[in-house]
Amino acid sequence: MSRKPESAYDVIVAGGGAGGIGAALGAAAEGAKVLLVEKYGFLGGAATTSQVLAYCGFFQQGPDPIKAVGGVADLLLDELRALGLDCEPFKSPTTSNWIILLEPEAVKLAMDRVLAKNGVEVLLHTRIAAVTRTASRLESATLAGMDGRQRVTAEAFVDATGDANLSLVAGQPCRTGNAEGKLQAVSAPVRIGGRDMSVPIDRDAIIAAFSEYNKTGAYPTAREDGGIFTIVPRTGEMWWMMFDHPMADLSSRSFSEAERASREAAHDYVEVLREKVPGFQNAYLVQTGPQIGIRESRHPVARYELTGEDLKTGRRRPDGVARAAWPMEDHSVAGKPVYHPIGGEGFADIPLDCLRAKGLDNLYFAGRVIGADDMAYASIRVMGTAFATGEAAGRAAYRNEQ
Ligand SMILES: Cc1cc2nc3c(=O)[nH]c(=O)nc-3n(C[C@H](O)[C@H](O)[C@H](O)COP(=O)(O)OP(=O)(O)OC[C@H]3O[C@@H](n4cnc5c(N)ncnc54)[C@H](O)[C@@H]3O)c2cc1C
Repeated sequence: MSRKPESAYDVIVAGGGAGGIGAALGAAAEGAKVLLVEKYGFLGGAATTSQVLAYCGFFQQGPDPIKAVGGVADLLLDELRALGLDCEPFKSPTTSNWIILLEPEAVKLAMDRVLAKNGVEVLLHTRIAAVTRTASRLESATLAGMDGRQRVTAEAFVDATGDANLSLVAGQPCRTGNAEGKLQAVSAPVRIGGRDMSVPIDRDAIIAAFSEYNKTGAYPTAREDGGIFTIVPRTGEMWWMMFDHPMADLSSRSFSEAERASREAAHDYVEVLREKVPGFQNAYLVQTGPQIGIRESRHPVARYELTGEDLKTGRRRPDGVARAAWPMEDHSVAGKPVYHPIGGEGFADIPLDCLRAKGLDNLYFAGRVIGADDMAYASIRVMGTAFATGEAAGRAAYRNEQ
């Protein structure tokens, strides 16, 4: 561990989702003095902010789950196992893809523990508000927290904010959505309790109930197949993704409308289950949010953009630092995901240049902000892959700046 003044770090990581946890642990494994800042009061990113309760991307798809992501992510999986999650590959009955099922309170605690054990300093309730820079480097960040503002310095920075908020304040050019500016839909997974667990969840009954609701209901669902549902480990609750909302832009007005609609829809949908679906008579909504699930926002300009063609052909490369193994899951049409398989050996290499800001020497990307075209983005954004790009970004951020 290097000796530095209290407010000086080797690596500052913005964002405490899968990308940020991977980056912080990766940099710490190299011996860096690391600060991670997260705007919420807990870690986890979409898994805990938006009820996204399955890690995708840890395994290649196919008849058997072949591991595509290991490294520091395994430290987190071990913490989750210690809290009672089995973390075994689970084949989704809806999509036939291999995933790891999660429970949000375990994710929060496991992340607290793994960062503490590995010497990462964490500031919650703190967001990166501004930076200072030269033409080619970031120099310091202004953190806005509960105690006001403070300035910290670092040799290198990792943007793992999902929405490229660090890149934005750094003045890095960003594209919104795909090449035409179109954003993937937002969705609002929810957890439902109070179900009679002796009654299997009847997909046909859900389909029939919502075909009826869609005729007059205020928030018709595009998921005419009953949506995606699983059972949340440790709780027996139903996890359900049934509500999607197209996004025209990234304005607060559009997000406010989406958030409000998602809560009204969740209320309606639980009422429909209670009235129409066997076993749900006493069901209740355990939780929405804390915020709606954002699939896509800004893409900062990287030195290389991974392409759909790279993934379709399973391109291998000598400068690969992480593997993309999740099928390209396109949500251009709300509620109608389309999956395109990864070719070659079942994964493609992600080169370091996808994790480096174009024109800024010490800004790195992790998670869903890495360089990718719209098809590649539909794969690399998942959390398993985000751990891997995070680890690679954190390690490179420390090594390259020494
Ligand atoms: C509805 C939905 C379903 C999905 N389903 C799956 C799935 O089943 N499995 C899967 O693996 N992936 C899924 N994804 C994709 C996945 O959840 C995200 O792409 C993934 O979480 C990206 O990880 P990340 O670490 O890059 O970003 P995030 O998980 O978004 O984490 C970013 C973190 O940065 C913090 N932050 C933002 N700005 C600042 C700031 N200025 N200062 C400090 N902190 C900041 C945020 O609070 C957040 O905690 C889904 C996404 C959605 C929306």
